Amino acid sequence: MNVIIFGPPGAGKGTQALHIAKKLKLYQISTGDLLRNEVKNKTTIGKDIEDIISKGDFATDEIVNELIKEVLFDENKKNKLIFDGYPRSLSQAKNLELLLSKSHQKIDFIFFLNVKKETIIKRIEKRKILEKRSDDNLGTILKRYDTYMETTKPVLDFYSKKQNFYEINGDEKIDEISTKIEQILSV
Ligand code: AMP
Repeated sequence: MNVIIFGPPGAGKGTQALHIAKKLKLYQISTGDLLRNEVKNKTTIGKDIEDIISKGDFATDEIVNELIKEVLFDENKKNKLIFDGYPRSLSQAKNLELLLSKSHQKIDFIFFLNVKKETIIKRIEKRKILEKRSDDNLGTILKRYDTYMETTKPVLDFYSKKQNFYEINGDEKIDEISTKIEQILSV
């Protein structure tokens, strides 16, 4: 099974993706984590994107698509993927369709965690204290929300027409959201 979870920053994508990954033994593919790893390991990509990520801007589609390509053609991970934070732009969504078809895979479930701006601000303020992420300050949060609205809205329009698209109220408690997702996945 392959699953996509998407929604604005702070919608709980990571939390829910981790939960489903554990339950269904899937690989959680977080492009945010992949990119942060590049920065941590001081790779060429890492050095290029460090400032971009800290400011709350998006890494280029080329960089992210390349990281995702490796994952899709990894025989161990095929058909066991849960995408968290990818695709984030229409170009990434189209690239994913192409890579899926080339690697003979499909997406079985698409979840959109819809959440109010106030909820996001509260959650990210909390996460800032817990995870100490360099991009978790109020200015960056609002910037990331606006970037999301601009760039990811077309992704929502693209996926919402599909039959296996499910919108979930991301303002609810973590457990309630997990239960709803599990019901849809029938697990
Ligand atoms: P996240 O951990 O998903 O909140 O992502 C943290 C940051 O990594 C984002 O604010 C972007 O700067 C970058 N990022 C993560 N995923 C993507 C993506 N699919 N495309 C471009 N930038 C991304």
